Amino acid sequence: MRPESRNYIDGRWTAADNAAPDINPSDVNDIVGEYPDSSEGDVRSAIHAARRSFPEWSRTSPHARANILAAAAAEILKRARELGELLSREQGKTLREGQGEVIRAGQAMQFMAGEAIRIRGDSIVGLGSNSSIEVIREPLGVIGVITPWNFPAAIPVFKIAAALAYGNTVVFKPSELVPASASELVSVLERAGLPAGALNLVMGSGPLLGSAIASDAAVDAVSFTGSVSTGRLVASAAVNGATMKRLQLEMGGKNPLVVLDDADLELAASCALDGAFFSTGQRCTASSRIIVTRGIHDRFVNALVDRLRGLRVGHALDEATNIGPVVSAPQLERIHEYIGIGRREGANLYFGGRSVERETPGYFLEPALFTEATNSMRICREEIFGPVAAVICVKDYEEALATANDTNFGLSAGICTSSLAYASHFKRNIQSGTVKVNQSTSGLDFHVPFGGRKDSAYGPPEQGTYAVEFFTSTKVVYTSA
Ligand code: NDP
Repeated sequence: MRPESRNYIDGRWTAADNAAPDINPSDVNDIVGEYPDSSEGDVRSAIHAARRSFPEWSRTSPHARANILAAAAAEILKRARELGELLSREQGKTLREGQGEVIRAGQAMQFMAGEAIRIRGDSIVGLGSNSSIEVIREPLGVIGVITPWNFPAAIPVFKIAAALAYGNTVVFKPSELVPASASELVSVLERAGLPAGALNLVMGSGPLLGSAIASDAAVDAVSFTGSVSTGRLVASAAVNGATMKRLQLEMGGKNPLVVLDDADLELAASCALDGAFFSTGQRCTASSRIIVTRGIHDRFVNALVDRLRGLRVGHALDEATNIGPVVSAPQLERIHEYIGIGRREGANLYFGGRSVERETPGYFLEPALFTEATNSMRICREEIFGPVAAVICVKDYEEALATANDTNFGLSAGICTSSLAYASHFKRNIQSGTVKVNQSTSGLDFHVPFGGRKDSAYGPPEQGTYAVEFFTSTKVVYTSA
């Protein structure tokens, strides 16, 4: 067994009883490594280690915590090429996307290093005479971090760096599809000087390990990113007779991109292409519903299809590839099922949607564009999480806005228009956590909050200076002197 195929508990790389292969989705004959298929007992050990380490880590000086995170950020940025290649190999996004994600993760870590020494409180005059009030922030304790496979570097960094910066300790359970990226991140933080127990890594099955973290009374809070259905399970495990945790659940999307008659056609087609299909459509912010007004509909669809024809689907590590494979066989099967559902519901599969063969055996799928879709179809209501988008034709802006808001999700939304009036109205009235005007619905800066509305999120947003809301508790101190 290789050293990377271990859990990291209490400062030691520890073997689990069972192992599972980490498969390259661009070439299923390429096994990236063997990783632990851990037990509930491994989770308990990790939680105990995080609990024991909390008093020491929470009292470590903010400057020391900042230095550790800054050292980790520097290593991530220095090794971005190599780490990006590993990420692309195990997850399937293109090299450019993989390396871009690692750089983003390094920058976010750098930002959070600064946050460790920017923790602010407040000072308020008391209502009584001779009374002053301070509001101070303290760490919560042990944070369970449960992450998905689609951003194997960035999402764990958003959560882990914030938790550590504010003095919490962590038990980290990554998706079992991306264990190599998780191991690398943890070993970078170990080398940066993190003390034993401050960060613990347990790899393996989500239902087993994730629910063990969520339900354990020794865990104070859970920061989770994943699907709505899993988010609900995490919430019900985290609030019961034995425990009632603070929760941050970042979940799915069915994100609308509205294209109005007055839009810049080329810009709108580029926004749709990027938002719906890059990263193989496997982004929570993907524009899976493209809502287009009648006057521009046919020209827009033609412009988008012209661009789709120019894309090359292939091996993630091939420099010529624009769209990598889907992450796994079950995910590919699920996407094909949805393509079938869309056709049966009466949408027109206007482009793509077939599995394709390449030199290596992988989960390659042509991007799929449906036209003549209606917002009540399942392909417009349920998250597919693949390179599939549906164009919905509407008569005017008012119908476009109503259609965009007619969903259980509320993560990201976009509008392409040259009208300041429509853009301003849309910004005010769209029900989503992020709004983009003349930009792709995907692609986020790391220094601003990220969260959603409706079923897309539960609890405070993550990232940036706003992360302090979830990862710390306020304490109000009254003093008479
Ligand atoms: P899942 O919900 O399947 O899994 C997310 C994480 O939860 C994984 O680590 C998984 O482990 C774990 N898990 C699985 N079952 C349980 C359980 N019963 N209790 C606790 N944890 C569990 O999501 P995916 O990994 O498939 O990721 C895709 C989803 O993530 C999409 O819905 C996407 O929209 C969403 N997402 C949301 C983002 C946001 O910020 N809003 C950003 C990125 C993605 P394992 O994989 O090992 O089973």
